[in-house]
Amino acid sequence: MVLQKSLPMTAGDSECSYANNSILQRTVIVKAKPVLEDTIKNMFKNGIFPKCFTVADLGCSSGPNTLLSISNVIDTVHNLCKENKCEPPELQVYLNDLPDNDFNSVFKSIPSFIEKMKKEKYGNCFIAGVPGSFYERLFPLNSLNFVHSSYSLHWLSQVPKGLECNKGSILISKSSPPQVLEAYFKQYEKDFSSFLHNRSQELMSGGHIVLVFVGRSNPDPRSYDCCCLMDLLTKSLLHLAAEGKIKEDEIDSFNMPSYTPYEEEIKKIIQIEGSFTLQRLEAFESDMAAIEKPNAKHFEDSAKLVVKTIRAVTEVMLASHFGNSIIDHLFDIYIKNVIEYLSMGNTIKFFNISLCLQKK
Ligand code: SAH
Repeated sequence: MVLQKSLPMTAGDSECSYANNSILQRTVIVKAKPVLEDTIKNMFKNGIFPKCFTVADLGCSSGPNTLLSISNVIDTVHNLCKENKCEPPELQVYLNDLPDNDFNSVFKSIPSFIEKMKKEKYGNCFIAGVPGSFYERLFPLNSLNFVHSSYSLHWLSQVPKGLECNKGSILISKSSPPQVLEAYFKQYEKDFSSFLHNRSQELMSGGHIVLVFVGRSNPDPRSYDCCCLMDLLTKSLLHLAAEGKIKEDEIDSFNMPSYTPYEEEIKKIIQIEGSFTLQRLEAFESDMAAIEKPNAKHFEDSAKLVVKTIRAVTEVMLASHFGNSIIDHLFDIYIKNVIEYLSMGNTIKFFNISLCLQKK
């Protein structure tokens, strides 16, 4: 699978697009805001600001969340300058995502954002798009003050090699043999190390990174917190195979390029890579079913929200492997499976990890 082509979230403004189905990710940005604020406050605790503050948001996507993190950064810097009674720095903002991201719609939203900032008397802000993989170098040496990334780093650069024996699963599952766990971890280790190494080249000395991604609370990768979602998606694919709409060996050869790390795995990779000090690591949960309707009595509403969220981030991948024609039917079956799962008293929780790193 060529990831650069197949990973970007469902684009545009359709009912199924990421732009219209990213409430989960939005609540995560809101919940992790204190980490971002504290990090920036710490960076400037001496009250000295650079003339230009250079920030990159990696995996910005396109939609209502794209400028949310950046706007949190800008508000924090601006408030700090007010407190310190000094001129706000100029801001250079880079928005990065894979080349297939809908940068056109991101760019269209920038003039009104800049206009709003001018009205609020913020300093000059210059925003540029940077297409490319954050597992590669994206910026010149020592050019960034701050890097942020939300809900992107659990995506791997590619589907790991050696998953032929992961039959009947589309990710690590309870029945995955040890070779599969190893293959996924190896890919994650390689990717996260490259991410850290490349950012260490690009950040100025003392520069900071704030990351939020899906992790797991259990050391055993076979029992990660929201694995039910992928198990139910597999069940839905098997349903289509039983109906003769897809072949079972097509399911066997499909694997998602995603890994949800355990705290100790993250710490070890950071330590071995060696460029950063881990200043803070926290975990918090998001209960998918409770996001929009905390007291929902009807599992149907919750299930629809869950399925739309998952569809927005998997549809492009599934369509490129199984073909477009099965997608609507697949997600109809998926909704039924999620309703059944919730009605048995189960919950669907994402285990999120936020961390703050400082370049040594
Ligand atoms: N930050 C946004 C989007 C999260 S969705 C939010 O919080 O709502 C994850 C995004 O990461 C997608 O847009 C996807 O295309 C992007 N992404 C995944 N792998 C990437 C990579 N290697 N390089 C750059 N962007 C990547």
